[in-house]
Amino acid sequence: MATDIRTAAPKGQTEALLDVRDLKVSFQTPHGPVNAVGGVSWTLAPGETLGIIGESGSGKSVGLEAVMGLIKSPPGHVSGEILFDGHDILKMSARKRRALRGDEISMVFQDAMSALNPSLTVGAQISEVYHLRRGCSRDEARRKAVELMDRVKIPSARMRLDAYPHEFSGGMCQRVMIATALALDPRVLIADEPTTALDVTVQRQIMALLSELQRETGMALVLITHDLGVVAEVARRAMVMYAGRIVESGDIETLFDAAAHPYTRGLIRSMPRIDTRGGELYSIGGTPPAAGQMPPGCAFHPRCPHAVEMCRATLPLLQATGKDAHLSACHLTGKLDND
Ligand code: SF4
Repeated sequence: MATDIRTAAPKGQTEALLDVRDLKVSFQTPHGPVNAVGGVSWTLAPGETLGIIGESGSGKSVGLEAVMGLIKSPPGHVSGEILFDGHDILKMSARKRRALRGDEISMVFQDAMSALNPSLTVGAQISEVYHLRRGCSRDEARRKAVELMDRVKIPSARMRLDAYPHEFSGGMCQRVMIATALALDPRVLIADEPTTALDVTVQRQIMALLSELQRETGMALVLITHDLGVVAEVARRAMVMYAGRIVESGDIETLFDAAAHPYTRGLIRSMPRIDTRGGELYSIGGTPPAAGQMPPGCAFHPRCPHAVEMCRATLPLLQATGKDAHLSACHLTGKLDND
């Protein structure tokens, strides 16, 4: 089958730290294999912030779990190439992959409260990383844990070292998770919906913290979210996923000002705006296809207001729109009015 061209950083940007090529992830089920990610290719430059946008079930989290080596096989099956610094993660031994996790690539999950161990103090959970992975003594690991808690702006860090996760708010738990993820100075941080469970003010604080830490450390950040507003604030480049494929990618300004794909346009129209307060909020009709029930042709065609005959039969591949590094997977790219 033909594959998409690669979605990559704009010209002039440094060589890729992470280079994902034709990544496919499927799961064996009693009803046969189900494709969660259908062949995606993208790159991440050192220090870059890349946003990955999509509704739940779009394959955005599963694809990044594959990068982290978190897909269990069986029932999962991962193919393609995931090059980190030129080395294919998929060909590494389990031991090497474990070493890569945390040391080089780290992940922060949506629900910090349940990701933390409720029976261990936050200090024990952070210092454990230093003790087990860096061989620090218990005292040294605790000292480093306090430094890290200070760095992620947990007030009175030394006093709260021996508190349990249930004594922390959701936002503070997320800071603890971020501290744990940063303990080994990774070069890539993957943040999967890191602010979804938090209220708006705390969301802003966590995103500001991630941006600040990124500037300080020079790490690259992959931000997975369904929230375009969050991406617009922190990322320079984003890709939009639908039904396991990338349907559009480009720099943030282009995506917001000149989105080419009807799905991206729908997402942008669905964003709450100050100037339409009180008016009815637009929403894309229908729902994404369930796993294992992918429609033929363009997976978005049952929901697309522009669908034509070809859309129901032929899968559209990513193609250049003519703007630098802007790609769209739509048969009508360049032929739709700016609505
Ligand atoms: Fe809509 Fe067809 Fe484009 Fe798919 S390929 S987004 S159905 S116009």
